[in-house]
Amino acid sequence: MNQDEIKKAAKILRDSRLNLALTGAGISVESGIPDFRSPRGLWERYNPAEYGTIWAFRDDAAKVWKMIREMSELVDRAQPNPAHLGLAQLQHLGLLHTIITQNIDSLHQKAGATRVIEYHGSSRTLSCLTCGARYNAEAKKEDLPPRCACTEILKPDVVFFGEAIPLEALRESQLLASSCTALLVIGTSAEVAPANTIPRTAKLAGAHVIEINVQPTALTSSFTDIFLQGKASSMMIGLVEEMQSLLGGP
Ligand code: NAD
Repeated sequence: MNQDEIKKAAKILRDSRLNLALTGAGISVESGIPDFRSPRGLWERYNPAEYGTIWAFRDDAAKVWKMIREMSELVDRAQPNPAHLGLAQLQHLGLLHTIITQNIDSLHQKAGATRVIEYHGSSRTLSCLTCGARYNAEAKKEDLPPRCACTEILKPDVVFFGEAIPLEALRESQLLASSCTALLVIGTSAEVAPANTIPRTAKLAGAHVIEINVQPTALTSSFTDIFLQGKASSMMIGLVEEMQSLLGGP
């Protein structure tokens, strides 16, 4: 772990007027939910390009539900790890305004985060694409595929490839990205648009960009100011400890 870089990042976050975090699938890997890019598990059997598009869902929703159900079982079992907890702690200390997450696993909320923008929706609710009825996912847990009262197969309220980002999430994220003074990017390959425009917007507006990832991404050599290479949990533990010591507390 590069302690000097962590110290630098902690100082930036302490002195910044408005801190924002952008998280991706990598932050939840240590909670047992695989990301898209790493070669293992779920996504070796279910190619996201094949199963993760709205066209695939419209074409054969029952087939796509086999993948969704496996993913939901992982999500239901998953608990927040120190990276989720560290971000929630920063929010409680008043050092992090909002977390924009691309994840649909609700782990930031489970960790106690107070302001979270779910950029790609969440798996907590299901909607009917035909009549618009909405259901709590928990209530339909036993059904595969879950169906609406009108008999149509329900779709989780997550953004599939080919679908638009929920308008409010898009608008609010854009606004925060262009007004934040530091952006902490954790565990995203930054390959999925338009979420990957957030670091660019922040940087062009003058924000410091701090990136945590196990490996360099397209951001690292373009918009990132400080790259903390390593697992999200150990980097966040180091960063929160450093910020606490800068603030003079435990
Ligand atoms: P991605 O799969 O494209 O990239 C994940 C990134 O995390 C990679 O750069 C990888 O190097 C990094 N990473 C892996 N393990 C890490 C760790 N322990 N610590 C730090 N970094 C780590 O994910 P993405 O950029 O979020 O984009 C993929 C899309 O997949 C998103 O839209 C997201 O909604 C969706 N997705 C969500 C979940 C979830 O909700 N947990 C899981 C899989 C995919």
